[in-house]
Amino acid sequence: MESELNEEYYKNERKADWRDKLRKEMKSKDRTNIPKIHMIEEDPLVRNKSNIEVNKGLTLALALQESRRCLDCVAPTCIVGCPVGTNIPKFIKYLEAGDILGAAKVLKENNSLPAICGRVCPQEIQCEAQCVYVKKLSGEGAAIGHLERFVADYDREHGDNSIPAIAEPNGIKIGVVGSGPAGLTVAGELAKFGYDVTVFEALHDLGGVLKYGIPEFRLPNSIVDFEINTIKQMGVKFVTNFIVGKTATFDDLKSEGFVAFFIASGAGLPNFMNIPGENFNGVVSANEFLTRVNLMGGGKTQFDTPVHAGKNVVIVGGGNTAMDSVRTAKRMGAERAIIVYRRSQEEMPARAEEIKHAIEEEIEFINLTTPIEYFADENGNLNKMRVQKMGLGEPDASGRRRPIPIEGSEYDIDVDSVVIAVGVSPNPIIQQSMPELEVTKWNTIKVDENMMTSIPGLFAGGDIVRGGATVILAMGDGRKAASGIHAYAQKLVLAESV
Ligand code: FAD
Ligand code: SF4
Ligand code: SF4
Repeated sequence: MESELNEEYYKNERKADWRDKLRKEMKSKDRTNIPKIHMIEEDPLVRNKSNIEVNKGLTLALALQESRRCLDCVAPTCIVGCPVGTNIPKFIKYLEAGDILGAAKVLKENNSLPAICGRVCPQEIQCEAQCVYVKKLSGEGAAIGHLERFVADYDREHGDNSIPAIAEPNGIKIGVVGSGPAGLTVAGELAKFGYDVTVFEALHDLGGVLKYGIPEFRLPNSIVDFEINTIKQMGVKFVTNFIVGKTATFDDLKSEGFVAFFIASGAGLPNFMNIPGENFNGVVSANEFLTRVNLMGGGKTQFDTPVHAGKNVVIVGGGNTAMDSVRTAKRMGAERAIIVYRRSQEEMPARAEEIKHAIEEEIEFINLTTPIEYFADENGNLNKMRVQKMGLGEPDASGRRRPIPIEGSEYDIDVDSVVIAVGVSPNPIIQQSMPELEVTKWNTIKVDENMMTSIPGLFAGGDIVRGGATVILAMGDGRKAASGIHAYAQKLVLAESV
């Protein structure tokens, strides 16, 4: 999804006196000579034994230096790369002018979770990939994500943390299924319109993948909790340990007065490869592994949650989930923590920064290789895996080159733990409880341009609609659905008043 660029609008907006003054103070030629800053990071060999955040944030001096690299372009193509259309030059120029809280306000116009997006957005294929430095100057894009994180963190630490303006309560009840980024966004947006919003969450904690998937060394829970608390202060109610479709059906909830729903139940069903030995003790899905560690204290002495933390651990896959799992295994004491991936590093879907961090943390990579069988001892405990080398053919439907098995290249690796991270599918509970709901062949829910499903009043967004996607795309869906739900509910009110 790409944002639209209204060139005329941005051209006029940048004519503001204060922006004109900044451009006069430093010419573009001088700005392009400023070296790109780098994030301050924890020492790799210290951090790979602890859960402390890897990226330590920018100093004010570094943030200002990077803000000066931004050319305040007439047609800021960076905006096109942001799925929610953040006004990037405007927030960066507020920062350059020293008004950091003003910069935060600009960010929040389109994005309710900038501290999270600044940390986890795949900027190198979104906003930063479209920056003029990359497109026209053969350079490195402005560090938009790092600046977004700096501004959002500053705002949290130094701002007044006031909650957004909220319309007079209208008493209309809306239900949200799931508390991941899509559900949190829709809840916050609808609260602003005055709705009585309740979020139902199947797990005992809130945040979806932001909490149970992405580890604390990338996204501290305190940041997610801060955002959730703001939404709570806006009047949104949260009910945990509540599985919609099991604990109660949509009909049950309708009888309690809910008039519309947003399904944001994510894609939490792990895929397996269906190869021999996948049922042995010691082979688990990344979803299970990360949830046990991140949400249930697995590996910590004060918790009873069992988790298999091996000495020789292989993670199968090359996405963000695989990188998070392998780096988590290393932190849990693995002597060898190895990525086995069927394509080359170039094709890995993980964020570039996560791959770089993993390499620095002494993660081993066995690329162009795929597992074909697992073996166990007489007690059924995994002790070996057989892999096969792969070549690369023509690009497939995903645009990446198709892996092709190389006959006779099989060999064995000693392992005591394998984590499978080869993709996820939508959790089927809701679809099963509503056979009339239209779904795709991948079991994702079909929606129209307003994010409404085939059932009037039932909206959906995020991974349950897209399959595994990204935080910012889930949030974008949440914003769009909030407008759709608002229009739907107002029509109902109008019909009842006639
Ligand atoms: P989710 O975040 O999955 O939340 C869905 C919630 O719904 C869950 O809490 C679930 O318990 C709840 N739920 C499910 N069924 C029900 C039900 N029937 N009743 C009540 N509640 C229910 N994206 C990025 O942009 N950058 C990254 O770096 C990144 N890293 C990732 C790392 C990992 C390990 C994983 C798994 C994903 C990562 N992603 C990343 C993808 C991103 O997290 C997801 O695209 C995003 O969280 C989807 O948001 P969502 O709100 O649709 O669903
Ligand atoms: Fe870039 Fe993500 Fe921020 Fe958009 S939300 S500007 S894509 S970091
Ligand atoms: Fe700044 Fe790059 Fe956007 Fe131009 S394209 S406004 S330089 S961030």
